[in-house]
Amino acid sequence: MIDLRSDTVTAPTDDMRAAMAAAEVGDDVYGEDPTVRELEERVADLFGFGAALFTVTGSLANVLAIRALAGVGDEVLCESGAHIARAELGAHGAITGVTMRTWSDPRGYADLAAIEAMVAPDMGPFFVATRAVSVENTHNFGGGRVQPVTALEGLRRLADEAGISIHLDGARIWNAHVASGRSLRDLAAVADTLAVGMSKGLGAPVGSLMLGSVEQVAQARVWRKRLGAGWRQAGVLAAAGLYALDHHIERLAHDHANARVIAEALGLDPADVDTNIVVVPTDDAVGVVAGCRAEGVLVGAVGRRIVRAVTHLDVSAGDARHAAAVLAKVL
Ligand SMILES: *Cc1c(COP(=O)(O)O)cnc(C)c1O
Repeated sequence: MIDLRSDTVTAPTDDMRAAMAAAEVGDDVYGEDPTVRELEERVADLFGFGAALFTVTGSLANVLAIRALAGVGDEVLCESGAHIARAELGAHGAITGVTMRTWSDPRGYADLAAIEAMVAPDMGPFFVATRAVSVENTHNFGGGRVQPVTALEGLRRLADEAGISIHLDGARIWNAHVASGRSLRDLAAVADTLAVGMSKGLGAPVGSLMLGSVEQVAQARVWRKRLGAGWRQAGVLAAAGLYALDHHIERLAHDHANARVIAEALGLDPADVDTNIVVVPTDDAVGVVAGCRAEGVLVGAVGRRIVRAVTHLDVSAGDARHAAAVLAKVL
């Protein structure tokens, strides 16, 4: 099977497993796992943040970040296809008690005019108070799009003027970095809090990080434990993340090239493929998924009329060409 459902499906490589097996560990709830601390410090520094917290999932990193910026009855603005709004099972409402209002952009871009029209940090005891705007880079359901620099710079100005915060959901910020050539610090400069994933394109089996100020991360550590997600000798997992930082960032360019190969074979405009996600319109997503499966290719239905193919570490150029041919035939 060639599995293009997501870049989460990668298995750790032999070298990554060796790094995990060799990791020095301690009890992270006591703050004594040296490998976890190394990963947290290294990632905080990479993005220019005060501190970082290693978490089991990106969803948890987002929950901890959003709750650092907004509280019960507050509001966060995001794009209608945002992972925090669509794919975290209502966690931000269920756990933090925030509400969301959304703008819609098929590519997931930050729409400054729409955001400006919605922002309402303080309109008296009549309207819910906007505390933050959340954006994704790259945008998952927008097809792996890299946010335009000018929109993010404008968003920062808008947030500063309004006195609200920005959360950046950077589960795939590594892909944005490789595709755009902009530094990780540059990409993160827009944000007050940041979530980054190690278990998507970077190929680690488990783990994300939540980044913020020293104070925000200290609070997030309390909430992580409160939610039952404190962990002990997590250094075996952090070691996979450290290995990925050393070996799996620049290679993302191959995934991006493979995604464009798939787009071209399907007659889609490769210019619409910024990174490793190909969005394929069809009348029958479920039928296409079943048809591809029968031919040994796994793709995902992310809407009734949208199939998604995601390239990653375990998909070679040959796999991509073969999968593209299968998809084209089934479509
Ligand atoms: C995958 C993803 C996450 C987090 O997913 P987990 O499965 O919880 O690790 C968050 N945001 C975006 C944009 C994602 O694509």
